[in-house]
Amino acid sequence: MIASHLVGFEPVIGLEIHARLLTDTKIFCGCSTRFGHAPNTSVCPVCLGFPGALPVLNRRAVDFAAKAALALKCTVHERSIFARKNYFYPDLPKGYQISQYELPLATAGTLEFGAGGAARVVRITRVHMEEDAGKSLHEGFPDSSRNTYLDYNRSGVPLVEIVTRPDIRSSEEAYDYLTRLKEILEYLDVCDGNMEEGSLRCDANVSIRLKGAEKFGTRTELKNINSFRFVRKAIDFELNRQIEVLESGGRIVQETRLWNSDEERTVSMRSKEEAHDYRYFPDPDLPLLVLDEEWLSGIHKSMIELPEARRRRFIEAYATSDYDAGVLTMTRALAEFFDEAARLSGQPKAAANWIMGDLLRFFKDANLDMKDLSASPVTPKMLADMILLVEKGTISGKIAKTVMEEMYKTGKAPAAIVEEKGLVQISNSGELEAIVDNVMTQHADAVAQFRSGKQGSLGFLVGQVMKATQGRANPQTVNELLRKRLAG
Ligand SMILES: [Zn+2]
Repeated sequence: MIASHLVGFEPVIGLEIHARLLTDTKIFCGCSTRFGHAPNTSVCPVCLGFPGALPVLNRRAVDFAAKAALALKCTVHERSIFARKNYFYPDLPKGYQISQYELPLATAGTLEFGAGGAARVVRITRVHMEEDAGKSLHEGFPDSSRNTYLDYNRSGVPLVEIVTRPDIRSSEEAYDYLTRLKEILEYLDVCDGNMEEGSLRCDANVSIRLKGAEKFGTRTELKNINSFRFVRKAIDFELNRQIEVLESGGRIVQETRLWNSDEERTVSMRSKEEAHDYRYFPDPDLPLLVLDEEWLSGIHKSMIELPEARRRRFIEAYATSDYDAGVLTMTRALAEFFDEAARLSGQPKAAANWIMGDLLRFFKDANLDMKDLSASPVTPKMLADMILLVEKGTISGKIAKTVMEEMYKTGKAPAAIVEEKGLVQISNSGELEAIVDNVMTQHADAVAQFRSGKQGSLGFLVGQVMKATQGRANPQTVNELLRKRLAG
């Protein structure tokens, strides 16, 4: 919630996102990057910073970082430099972090978000690669009040840091930016986007200025925002705090502040006076990173269609509504599922309705991961086949619901289910006539009502015929037959 007195102020926000790259091994050694291994079991002399151990760059990490940079419309540079960022902290056994400073991997990109006329563009300053640090464990041990434990499994896990210009104007926009960024990284399969596990970390530079002012106010840097929910809360808290300081005649101090999610407030961590001087210099153990033309064009070729482009295509090629296109592109797996079912059936609207109406509910009930639908018993081909059975009149729309459930339960093809269960629609007039006559005899009162002008009775009678055929009658034919008989 933003204080009402924000009216006279304008928030100025820039974000720094650290995204963990989904490589199997670390950035400078062969240790596993898997999350959740027993502490200090995925380590070696390189990632533990033993003297004399030499780093060797992981080619896949470069590919992933370059893909992310291209998706953010950055210029990926042919040459970039790895540098040492020097500081001491117990979770950093080398005493420096290998990062990029001068000549980063990529610069000058943009990310667009928000649909329609409200589209916003955030400029990206740079995308650079670096290694992650280890982890200090301050909680969860019997002697946690006295000791801190260290787990070095994370040290050397590859990261990209994505830095924006201060183009964001509200906590809402920060949230939207992060949502789009996460979506892109997930589509590219370069980051799993899991904020709770630390795969995506967000630092925010926050300041305010009077509306219309050119000059930026003094900013604070917010760290430790470790869930999507907290992005908005932390920024709003900080904006309100800064306004209160200014309105009470105080001055904003340039400092780093930590978001405390238990107390839902930011607290001062260190002021600028205590800020680190990292004394960056090129890492003498690592040569210049050169991405030659062939390498870069290979990465270009491996780029897939990104979520925004896919949404636009669905709207244009399939006449999907804005809302549906948004839902159907939530994950790449879902978008590909819909795309294939729409293409195979030639009926995108029906495919969208079945996916959004029935399949998504099944998936949710079964706890299926929407990023990976390979475990889904229903395939796009099966869905398309079922849609075609309805289209051809082999089964009614009502029966299709039953077929859908059976497909989901058994994984059998729709045609097999229809045959096994005898679900073929009865369109044969002769067969239906007998049933219609029977229903008319049983419900003589409804027939009389219709004949005395109560049109609504027709619906009731159609319903009775459908019931008598367990939904297998062709409603169109039933309607026609009934009208003819009732008129007679
Ligand atoms: Zn290692």
